[in-house]
Amino acid sequence: MAAQETVDQKYVYDFSEGNKDLKDLLGGKGANLAEMTNLGLPVPPGFTITTEACQAYLATGREPDGLAGQIEAHLESLERAMGKRLGDPQDPLLVSVRSGAKFSMPGMMETVLNVGLNDQSVQGLARQASGEGSQAASGGADRFAWDSYRRLIQMFGKTVCEVPGEEFEHALDEAKRAKGTQNDLDLDADDLRGLVGAYKKIFLKHTGREFPQQPREQLDLAIRAVFESWNAERAVLYRRQERIPADLGTAVNVVTMVFGNLGPDSGTGVAFTRDPASGAQGIYGDYLANAQGEDVVAGIRNTVPLQELEQLDKTSYDELLGIMARLEEHYKDLCDIEFTIERGKLWMLQTRVGKRTAAAAFVIAGQLVDEGLIDLDEALHRVNGAQLAQLMFPRFQLDHEFQPVAKGIGASPGAASGTVVFTSARAVELAAEGKSVILVRRETNPDDLNGMIAAKGILTSRGGKTSHAAVVARGMGKTCVSGADEIEVNVPAKRFTVAGQTVNEGDVVSIDGTTGKVYLGEVPVMPSEVVQYFEGSLDPEHIDNALVRAVHRIMTHADGKRRLAVRTNADTGADAARARRFGAEGIGLCRTEHMFLGDRRELVERLILARAEGEREAALAALLPLQRADFEEIFREMDGLPVTVRLIDPPLHEFLPPLEQLAVNVAVAQERGEDVAKEEALLAAVRRMHEENPMLGLRGVRLGLVIPGLFAMQVRAIAEAAVSCARGGGVAKPEIMVPLVGAVQELETVRAEAEKIIAEVVGDSGVEVLIGTMIEVPRAALTAGQIAEAAEFFSFGTNDLTQMAWGFSRDDVEGAFFWRYLELGIFGISPFESIDRDGVGRLVRIAAEEGRAARPGLKLGICGEHGGDPDSVHFFHEVGLDYVSCSPFRVPVARLEAGRAVVETGGSDSR
Ligand code: PEP
Ligand code: MG
Repeated sequence: MAAQETVDQKYVYDFSEGNKDLKDLLGGKGANLAEMTNLGLPVPPGFTITTEACQAYLATGREPDGLAGQIEAHLESLERAMGKRLGDPQDPLLVSVRSGAKFSMPGMMETVLNVGLNDQSVQGLARQASGEGSQAASGGADRFAWDSYRRLIQMFGKTVCEVPGEEFEHALDEAKRAKGTQNDLDLDADDLRGLVGAYKKIFLKHTGREFPQQPREQLDLAIRAVFESWNAERAVLYRRQERIPADLGTAVNVVTMVFGNLGPDSGTGVAFTRDPASGAQGIYGDYLANAQGEDVVAGIRNTVPLQELEQLDKTSYDELLGIMARLEEHYKDLCDIEFTIERGKLWMLQTRVGKRTAAAAFVIAGQLVDEGLIDLDEALHRVNGAQLAQLMFPRFQLDHEFQPVAKGIGASPGAASGTVVFTSARAVELAAEGKSVILVRRETNPDDLNGMIAAKGILTSRGGKTSHAAVVARGMGKTCVSGADEIEVNVPAKRFTVAGQTVNEGDVVSIDGTTGKVYLGEVPVMPSEVVQYFEGSLDPEHIDNALVRAVHRIMTHADGKRRLAVRTNADTGADAARARRFGAEGIGLCRTEHMFLGDRRELVERLILARAEGEREAALAALLPLQRADFEEIFREMDGLPVTVRLIDPPLHEFLPPLEQLAVNVAVAQERGEDVAKEEALLAAVRRMHEENPMLGLRGVRLGLVIPGLFAMQVRAIAEAAVSCARGGGVAKPEIMVPLVGAVQELETVRAEAEKIIAEVVGDSGVEVLIGTMIEVPRAALTAGQIAEAAEFFSFGTNDLTQMAWGFSRDDVEGAFFWRYLELGIFGISPFESIDRDGVGRLVRIAAEEGRAARPGLKLGICGEHGGDPDSVHFFHEVGLDYVSCSPFRVPVARLEAGRAVVETGGSDSR
């Protein structure tokens, strides 16, 4: 929002007036220059024009009242401090005009250097540069001055007056050609004087005016150009991508120029106070003698490791090290800095808290605690779940030989290489031979489960982040790239084509589930040490691994802090066991439909299509012992912890043969005169049950109410398994969950039947069974007060709740058109990935409040995909849920974020 202009508004701050906490007003660069100035560090004097001035300029198209006068006053005091005047013909003060927003936007906005040079002051600069004590010979000083002037015209022309940059480049190339060289440094003072003439002509041609000679006019125009660069196309794009608000504006820093290109006793460099890649302590940086900052960026000459500065200029080196230590202690974090040495005098041009890799974030947070600079709460604040998730996946060791051939959606992170297979059966076969396989499908369905379990990774050409492949792969912690639509998959022919190449079954591909990239051939993979630690195979107390020790320490603190419990979504004993090792405190969602695949599928098909009672009862009787065994295994693994078992919730089509294929088979068989009575009956039944919108059709509680005995069989299997567990000395805590409830009457009907069965089975075994419901239909959220009367717990199914609140098909929309919604900023992230706080979140809030009002103590959880999303975990903490439930691999992320949520809301909440 544009700031209100008031008559006395302060738009300009001297560096001595600001501090690091004024980033909103002074931008990151300005605030930190002020902080360093106040620390007494050698910062070239200057002042900052506020973001509010920029906002006012952008809103009205003119400088706000009072700004010009304030700049004048600050410039005068700068001139007094330096004992020089801007653009003075004898001894000019020169300044740089630099952008600097609240959030770093590297290279996105403009900078103009050497403001204050003109036809006279260039001579003065040359005289000063060749002055006594200088190592620049007089010829060198002339060269330096004219080079500085031509750089000003070039930058000013391009940035302020939109003169095409290539024109200047051409003129420079022309000058080098005339000189018979390819190196800028071979151009002498006369060549550069000639180049200034050529540049001025280019400037005149494009702007219709002479290059401005008035220093103050140069300054004002440069400031205006920096304001305007906030709205440059690339800056707008960058902000959208990084989700930086569009209305912040940039500050403008006017800084006394210092020169690193005045001879061998000058230079420029960048440094980090610790290694931003690993977090290791030490000096990390690069130095380039006799150069300006932009020469380093342009890569004209190679930099040397910062350590070499010790030989070149020990005094500056020692001073720099002292300053780096001081900055770390002051900022209590890794800092990155830019500096220049002008004739043996060190100047600090910039500092900020430096960016770092995920591993370095944990290591540095741990080190800073050891050094007593921060406490563990602050350490928790310094890391995040996205970083932890990155550390939990195997990674490719990529070098330049590997070029991706396609890019899909990074649906489940990690890196996997393996032999391509196109069917589940082949995946199982090859995996049994000990091969790594990548299962490639157009899209997966529940029948692919065995193949997905066997595969190292899954690649599909269709579907988004909540497609079947994505959800199931994430659940298993398996790498998955979905929706790679450049790939044409031909399953019958056992091949796919991509970028004009054909990949056959048996060929090797590599997929990166973080970036969505697909490579041909084998890329080497490194396993994650952090997972080995969570799995219990690395003991943090006894290994020399700074990362694992830091993760252990911070996770322990997060667990001590968090209020939310963390459960897992798991349907098998193996997943339950792994999740428990990862810290899960129970199961929040056991999807029982996943237990009806493979051999059992036929029984379910018979059950759904049964017309006679006897047929149905026989199918149910066959399923009961199988289900009981499933639950026994899970209760055993989760001994003593709650297990929420959801009654069956498949969209019907997943269990029936595909209609078109069946119709074709019947027609072909009829044509051949075969006996097709049985197939015809099946076809008629499938036609009868066919749905246009299966996700809105006969699924969840609706199926349970329509097919007699189905839910009853499951309830009985759960209760019997719990009793058998208790009799064996274990503690089973089953919670039966009814899916897709929209009205309390649905739940009451299921409950009445379930209670009878439970009472009958449980007897005096001491087993307690809770009955509750998913809240995943908007109507359920809006009538939560009524529903709570019949539910001992709610678990929010935010996948369906998002689907139904937005009317977005969860299987289709992400791949189909979300890119456009993201581009338009309608949302910054898919609402299937991170909870839409305003809409879906509001439904959650209403249901939580009204549910608890009707039934105090109502247990509240969430088991949609959002349960493992960092930002969503914070939301669920704020809303007051009791637990989040997520796939096993996301359990550590949820634990960490639940702890961070307490620290970030300033709570001393602990469990
Ligand atoms: C949900 O809808 O959020 C949920 C957990 O159920 P499912 O994903 O199985 O529909
Ligand atoms: Mg659901």
